[in-house]
Amino acid sequence: MKQIAVLGSTGSIGTSCLDVIDSLRERMSLFAITAFRSWELVREQSRRFHPRVAVIADASLKEIVSRGDFAPGTELLFGAEGIETAAAHDEVDVVIAGIVGAAGLRGTWAAIEKGKTVGIANKETLVVAGPLVMQLSAKTGATLLPVDSEHSAIFQAMQAGRPEEVRRVVLTASGGPFRGWSSDRLRDVTPEKALAHPTWAMGQKITIDSATMMNKALEVIEAKWLFGLRTDQIEIVVHPQSIVHSFVEFVDGSVIAQLSPPDMRLPIQYAMTYPERSPGISRALNWQQPMSLDFQKPDFDAFPALRLGYEVAERGGTCGAVLNAANEVAVARFLNRELGFTDIARACRAVLDSHDFDPSPSLSDLMRQDERAREEMRRWRC
Ligand code: NAD
Ligand code: MG
Repeated sequence: MKQIAVLGSTGSIGTSCLDVIDSLRERMSLFAITAFRSWELVREQSRRFHPRVAVIADASLKEIVSRGDFAPGTELLFGAEGIETAAAHDEVDVVIAGIVGAAGLRGTWAAIEKGKTVGIANKETLVVAGPLVMQLSAKTGATLLPVDSEHSAIFQAMQAGRPEEVRRVVLTASGGPFRGWSSDRLRDVTPEKALAHPTWAMGQKITIDSATMMNKALEVIEAKWLFGLRTDQIEIVVHPQSIVHSFVEFVDGSVIAQLSPPDMRLPIQYAMTYPERSPGISRALNWQQPMSLDFQKPDFDAFPALRLGYEVAERGGTCGAVLNAANEVAVARFLNRELGFTDIARACRAVLDSHDFDPSPSLSDLMRQDERAREEMRRWRC
């Protein structure tokens, strides 16, 4: 029985994780769940799965949450430290990092420090501190498995050759709800329109990131650190059907891709059962139905976030932490109607360009730069 800790169990990734565990009860068991504030859902998950540990990160909720309503065998912890306790617990085999934003870093770090197998959905961890995360996992022997669908696809395709035989990787992008739009038209996009993604149902932050294509920018950075690639080995192609999840081109010109319907439960399950595969709840492609797969060039002018992604991947250092923090606050301000849609990338560029660059920061340097970038973005005026 594999014991699984799901960090961010109440989110889109988290609830998909629980569906997968539920469908594979004979081989895995839910050991720990964590959430920020949605304690009613945590309570329901505790009654359904009887995890040993449940964490509510917002410690102020301790006053209103009644212990008695949780499953009797579930230990209830309050505060962000509880996430680290859950992630690093001796009995946990696999940790799924499903918290959104830089807030996910602490728990992921704690799991890697303990040498766990970690399924990384929380791409922001790698964007903020990729080199440090990879160094730490090399030191502790932790196994990092991507959950992001593109990176899971690349990880699977990479198994067809040796790392030095990889010529380049191509990340596919659905293009989001505004594929083909001009920058002029994008200026009037509202939060409601940006939240309606054509192929994936996800949390709010990543849905906005997909609309601005900042998500793909973050994924370029994620791919660079995770797979040890040069920036010029990473390409992006727009693929509206979201069926080819990414591909790897080897030095002989062979291209190996991973295909499946758009359903995060598949990469999640693969990270949980790795190195094995298992029949699961994700449906298969139906080859008897007509299907076309289109590939188009991304529009770097209408979606300037893409350029930011390449620049930050190339420069490294403090850039990832600054871009990520600036983007998190810009997205929140856009949802709050304080910034326009096209201001998101513009403001991120301004905060990034004005920051005090350090090529080899420590973790605490990164946290300081994260805080400073958030401050800057809160103050930013169009
Ligand atoms: P979500 O908003 O649906 O869920 C976020 C989870 O994190 C919730 O459980 C929430 O309680 C928890 N959380 C939020 N802030 C927290 C904090 N400060 N402290 C502790 N916990 C906190 O987000 P999501 O769509 O599930 O995305 C999660 C991560 O997975 C993101 O990094 C995202 O980029 C990545 N990802 C998501 C998808 C997807 O399909 N949703 C696909 C690929 C990658
Ligand atoms: Mg992705």
